[in-house]
Amino acid sequence: MYRITLIPGDGIGPEISEATVRVIEATGVRIDWDVQEAGEEVFKKEGTPLPERVIESIRENGVAIKGPVTTPVGKGFRSVNVTLRQTLDLYACLRPCKGFRGARTRYDDIDIVIVRENTEDLYAGIEFPMGKEETAGLIDYIDKTTGKRIREDSGISIKPISVYGTQRIVRFAFEYARKNGRKKVTAVHKANIMKFSDGLFLETAREVASEYGDIEFEDRIIDNMCMQLVQKPELYDVLVLPNLYGDIVSDLGAGLIGGLGLAPGANIGEGIAVFEPTHGSAPKYKGMNRVNPLAMILSGVMMLRYLGESDAAQRVERAVAEVIEEGKSVTYDMKPSPEDPTAVGTREVADAIIARMNA
Ligand code: NAD
Repeated sequence: MYRITLIPGDGIGPEISEATVRVIEATGVRIDWDVQEAGEEVFKKEGTPLPERVIESIRENGVAIKGPVTTPVGKGFRSVNVTLRQTLDLYACLRPCKGFRGARTRYDDIDIVIVRENTEDLYAGIEFPMGKEETAGLIDYIDKTTGKRIREDSGISIKPISVYGTQRIVRFAFEYARKNGRKKVTAVHKANIMKFSDGLFLETAREVASEYGDIEFEDRIIDNMCMQLVQKPELYDVLVLPNLYGDIVSDLGAGLIGGLGLAPGANIGEGIAVFEPTHGSAPKYKGMNRVNPLAMILSGVMMLRYLGESDAAQRVERAVAEVIEEGKSVTYDMKPSPEDPTAVGTREVADAIIARMNA
């Protein structure tokens, strides 16, 4: 029996979580769910969207699966997702982009794994607002030390990239490649322009790569990478990227396989892992039994693999593939038009997967 933290989240979170729990339970793997609320509702009641007990529960159990959580724009609370990643030092964001036959996409046979650094880069949250005294001080300092003058009416975001942070994410990518029979790791950067941040990332990645003679290594500049992924995605295997490029390329990857409704993910640290879909809480669909639960169910497949339950993972994945290929019991986003009257609801997708698993 595994004890696993379940964070249903808000918006569409609770309904896709319910579908996911039902599918995972249908595998027969026994799980004691430690249900923890986070997000808007808890914020209204307790003044924080992420009570300490949620973090403690994940620390204690070591494994969590979560639905999306809304981040209010410009007010309210900080992103629960970013806070979780930083507090638990979940430094690796793993996003497999695997195509399924029958999904609506322009590409066949996509099988790329994105490994995004989760703690550094422009997401470190070190920012200087336009017009503030500390910003003026920084502008003066930069002027004195580099001779370059930033305009006074500028806001500034800092982009730290360290040897430590890069070593551990690139090692993670190579270890993942090794364990999963992958052939190649591609490091993505803009080292020609940002010599001391992306340049350090590339230099460090090359050093780490030299420890892994059995796996091919190459690098690509981010802009070229985007074009190549659209033109020749079959050339790529595992990609390792600093935080911001990783975020953007993850959505590009979701686009290659047929959309956000199909893109699973995991945030992983030392001995701790939080599985979650790539998409957000889509508030306008809340409670409508309308959205696609597959991204979260496939995050559940990743979780089962992480637990060593490969058989169960494979059974769910196969059932998902069959349901997609048949194309009958799928939600609106997987139909040719969003108004397609034959689209089924969130619950019905889970029913169809469970029926396949038991067939
Ligand atoms: P979103 O992913 O929630 O939704 C964008 C659009 O994608 C939706 O309107 C919908 O048309 C479609 N979509 C998303 N998930 C779908 C699904 N499962 N099935 C079918 N269609 C789906 O992105 P957003 O609108 O930019 O963000 C909404 C909220 O979610 C924001 O508050 C944001 O901060 C938050 N968010 C949370 C996470 C997370 O919890 N990890 C990640 C991203 C965004």
